[in-house]
Amino acid sequence: MNINKNSFLFNEISSLKGVGLKTKKYLERKRIEKIKDLLWDLPYSIIDRSKITSLRELEIGKITTVKVNVIKYNFPRVRNLPNKVICGEKEEKINIIFFNSYEGYIRKILPIGKEVIISGKIGYFKKHYQITNPTYVKPAVQKEEIAKIFPKYSLTEGLTEKIYRKLIFEVLNKINDNYEWHSDEFLKDNNFNKLKETFLNLHNPSKKIDIFSDDYRRLAYDEIFANLLTLFSARKSVKLKKKKKKIYSNKFSELILKNFDFDLTNDQKKVLEDLDKDIRSESRMFRLLQGDVGSGKTILALIAAANVIESKYQVAFMAPTEILASQHYELAKKLFFSTNIKIELLTSKTNLKDKKKIISNLKNGSVNFLVGTHSLFQKKIKFSKLGFIIIDEQHKFGVKQRISLAKKGGDNCDILSMSATPIPRTMMLSFFGDMDVSLLNEKPKNRKDVVTLLKPENKISELWPLIKKQISLNRQVFWVCPLIDESKKLDFSSAVKKYNLIKKIFPNHVGILHGNVDKVEKNIVLKKFLEKKIKILVSTTVIEVGINFPNANIIIIENSNKFGLSQLHQLRGRVGRGNIQSYCIMLYKNNLSENAKKRLKILRKTNDGFLIAEEDLKIRGHGDLLGFQQSGIKNFKFADPIHHKDLFLMAEKKIKNIKIENIKKYEDLIKLHDKAEIINEIAN
Ligand code: ADP
Ligand code: MG
Repeated sequence: MNINKNSFLFNEISSLKGVGLKTKKYLERKRIEKIKDLLWDLPYSIIDRSKITSLRELEIGKITTVKVNVIKYNFPRVRNLPNKVICGEKEEKINIIFFNSYEGYIRKILPIGKEVIISGKIGYFKKHYQITNPTYVKPAVQKEEIAKIFPKYSLTEGLTEKIYRKLIFEVLNKINDNYEWHSDEFLKDNNFNKLKETFLNLHNPSKKIDIFSDDYRRLAYDEIFANLLTLFSARKSVKLKKKKKKIYSNKFSELILKNFDFDLTNDQKKVLEDLDKDIRSESRMFRLLQGDVGSGKTILALIAAANVIESKYQVAFMAPTEILASQHYELAKKLFFSTNIKIELLTSKTNLKDKKKIISNLKNGSVNFLVGTHSLFQKKIKFSKLGFIIIDEQHKFGVKQRISLAKKGGDNCDILSMSATPIPRTMMLSFFGDMDVSLLNEKPKNRKDVVTLLKPENKISELWPLIKKQISLNRQVFWVCPLIDESKKLDFSSAVKKYNLIKKIFPNHVGILHGNVDKVEKNIVLKKFLEKKIKILVSTTVIEVGINFPNANIIIIENSNKFGLSQLHQLRGRVGRGNIQSYCIMLYKNNLSENAKKRLKILRKTNDGFLIAEEDLKIRGHGDLLGFQQSGIKNFKFADPIHHKDLFLMAEKKIKNIKIENIKKYEDLIKLHDKAEIINEIAN
């Protein structure tokens, strides 16, 4: 009979024997707070002490195990000089050196004439091999305790391997042998061990961690499954309650559509149908609109907003930054011009008097549409009848924020999130399983593909004619550098240096923007760029993805191989939004590795953000999903979307058939993966 509870795992780490205040502090530095946290901290490597090495074959600097006889002591009576024990094997000798040690202790562990096993790092001093402060010393008869493979953990200062390992194995041994939430059949079918055995194996590896091993895969599976369970519960809770149907005649949205001098793409039309259905239905919309930069998400959100407003509800549109919010606001004002919809903008820059007025007009219902940053969700802001929340660049928010937002909106509120960050298809459900997803794959028809070029940095002067020509045509240029200022350590291009150079070539046309430019100045520069008073904008990557500069048609990216592919793709997405031919020029230093070239060439070959995201993962391989972390998407600790693709599919299949009453048995699993807090949030 399996047991699915082992509650001691969730106790504070200090409840373990041997963990005093000091150790607790060290462990906290490693983010180990609860007992269970120890389990997840897998060894990153191994130390092989299994082979007994002859003294003839010693290598300096190597961790080595030797079997020797104790020959002679040397206990100097002078302070600070170490104690020395001379040991031998046949004709060969080795010195064992002890600093800060007691004679009695040494006599005890290394008795003259006895055969011993010693393990430690080999050193060399005054023509003799030595081991200083050996990690292990045991009588030769206890060989098995030392001559083996040890797991290697990344430790903070103050924690020794010995103590750390002892703690982990103390915990592992306490776990019940039958601690398990999967059925025996399921384990057998997949070659998985029970949980305790899985952890014992992973913490007692015979080689470096192998992400394809059955034990590792079991852990990865559990992680994926815990994630899906959480999203599944979130979805259930949002969909459970019925909302009031919203009723409208499309009269506003039709007015808006007439404004456009282009036709919607087929994908856009399909998304509009999805939104329409959701808004009119009795269950709440909880939808993600995923589409590459420039695919035309914003106008769809605004059309849906118009319908909701016609049905006598208010709408809130939240953007991650002020600039983006005011751009959405301007666009909404333009599009809603021929309606009587009242729109307001609220950001931290809004002055107090205006803010008060907006807040009171929201309450009495005379403001229909509020655009802003996350300041929209402060407590003091109360809507009279909020019916629709639009969240731009959703990836900046996690599951937890999603849930609290859903709550703030109340039972009648529909929620639409939009994201341009491509997520590999394999991970879609594991990230957004709680939401319905609409995809915009099709680019608007008038778009030309961005011409993407790779250029060595020393040929930079070849760019001047191209830039000169485009500027004369009144076009604009982004120039992106990885660094703000010169760095002695890093050989990357800096924005400041480039700014000074370009200013000489194109006087009066250049602006600069980076993380150290203050907010006010930043807005001034961006505004100048929008108004075409600046032609070339030199910057780090601070400019947000979503901002629309349809007039810019060149982006130059320095040290392009320092960026993740997805990030480069997003940068490229800043141009090519109008119907003019655009260029993305990726500069690189001459000594580019084959791998780096391969990466960059992918960008030249394709414009498909999803494909790029997947290629990015493949090339980077496991454990280096930095591009994703940078883009703000939280990652899995163990599961790898490329190499564990089958596990993702397996977990998805399982979750689709799961019965609510069965969720209870996974309670510990959810807690072990830190999802309990989210589940509680849903339940309350
Ligand atoms: P996203 O938010 O997906 O990055 P936007 O909604 O900001 O993209 O759209 C980018 C630009 O494309 C805007 O100027 C918009 O007016 C324009 N646009 C949107 N849909 C179409 C279309 N079907 N045809 C032509 N241009 C379009
Ligand atoms: Mg956008």
